[in-house]
Amino acid sequence: MSKRIAGPEIERLVQLLAKVPGLGPRSARRAALHLIKKKEQLFVPLTAAMGEAVEKVRVCSTCGNVDTSDPCTICTDPRREDATLIVVEDVADLWALERAAAMNVRYHVLGGTLSPLDGVGPDDLNIKTLIARVASGVVSEVILAVNATVEGQTTAHYITDQLSSFEVKVTRLAHGVPVGGELDYLDEGTLTAALKSRTAF
Ligand SMILES: [Zn+2]
Repeated sequence: MSKRIAGPEIERLVQLLAKVPGLGPRSARRAALHLIKKKEQLFVPLTAAMGEAVEKVRVCSTCGNVDTSDPCTICTDPRREDATLIVVEDVADLWALERAAAMNVRYHVLGGTLSPLDGVGPDDLNIKTLIARVASGVVSEVILAVNATVEGQTTAHYITDQLSSFEVKVTRLAHGVPVGGELDYLDEGTLTAALKSRTAF
């Protein structure tokens, strides 16, 4: 066992910070020390912000997004197009698409992917609520923005099947050459997918 260099409160803080994605034990120590040094400017306001977020954070019952209100900010935004729904696996994907700011539409967060081996079935994901939203009739296109993994594609196929009886266009993201990508560096799977989904110039 390594020698303890700080009291149990600081050790606990470091241990918890080390569980934050992107921070390992070393970065957690640096972060903890930084917070302690910047007690008034950072540590106190951060603690207050965390306390408030813990109190208010909830899952949107419409789309599965996380926010401090239900329905969430995106679901209640009147400037968004109702007819297009982007389906994502995780809130992180929603945030990534929003950062790209390519479309001003609504979302649906599945909360994972179908994975029979891990015991994840359709009832474990927000698929029923997705079907209910499509059944309400306002949606004309569902964009399946799931990951290009086996589980992601299995989930996309399942959802496409479930939506086949509705008057709705189901599309998926293109697979292929990334922007700024060089062909020489791409794997065979990506190159094959890019060739198959080629478009007219
Ligand atoms: Zn929502």
